[in-house]
Amino acid sequence: DGLELVRAYRQKAETQQVPIIVLSANDDPQMKRASFAAGANDYLVKLPGPIELTARIRYHARSYRTLQERDNAYRALHASQQALLKSNEELRRLTQVDGLTGVSNRRYFDECLAQEWTLSALDGTELALLMIDVDPFKAYNDQFGHLAGDAALQSVAQAIRQTARARPCVVARFGGEEFALVAPQTSLPQARPLAEAIRAAVQQLKIKAAPSSPHPHMSVSIGVSVLVADAQTLSQDLLHLADTRLYAAKRRGRNCVVTD
Ligand code: GH3
Ligand code: MG
Ligand code: MG
Repeated sequence: DGLELVRAYRQKAETQQVPIIVLSANDDPQMKRASFAAGANDYLVKLPGPIELTARIRYHARSYRTLQERDNAYRALHASQQALLKSNEELRRLTQVDGLTGVSNRRYFDECLAQEWTLSALDGTELALLMIDVDPFKAYNDQFGHLAGDAALQSVAQAIRQTARARPCVVARFGGEEFALVAPQTSLPQARPLAEAIRAAVQQLKIKAAPSSPHPHMSVSIGVSVLVADAQTLSQDLLHLADTRLYAAKRRGRNCVVTD
């Protein structure tokens, strides 16, 4: 019967929203209630004249179309919001990541260092910094070309990241062929083996070094500093200390770690 038809229309996705005017010979209130409950939009007891019928059909058709337009607009809005979220996320990533090596970039590193320095001062915890510099890299470029140099930098960055993955820390390209690693709540007895493991991991890459290198395979020199931030020190002091030790490692023959 008509009621079943209304229910069947409402169950099918294609006709779920289509307006339904029930024409009935029956003026029974129970029947009317059942029709509206099943999803009818209107209920006429006898066929009205063409003017009224046309007016009602127009009314229902218009509200149906308005509803559809609203739903489409919502869907489009939702889709563009999702796309915007995704591109914002991608933009944020691009502003934090070094294009060549995929590790964090200098800007992000500076932000992290400042943040961790503040936390170190608040908690009184040690903050460790590793300055990692690729050994005679200029000679490597001169010997094998800049593209090979780029590939080597990518491998070194990957080795540093892999080795440090167990510790909460930030690995960044500090500039050129220098990388920096900042590790919160890390003491010197913890930072030294990490630096040593990174040095060994780069050796394990077994990238043929330039002929002028004192070592057969590409190596890194690492300076390590650990400080607790306080009123007398700046994060620059941590950087400066690691840098001084890095140069000491270079003087000691490269492919080594200096922590004092
Ligand atoms: P040291 O052992 O004393 O660190 O010697 P070095 O040759 O590594 O140091 P130096 O600072 O003289 O040279 C660094 C070289 O790194 C020079 C520069 O051309 C190269 N370099 C910096 N950034 C990149 C890069 O993105 N790609 C390539 N291929 N080379 C780079
Ligand atoms: Mg170098
Ligand atoms: Mg350098």
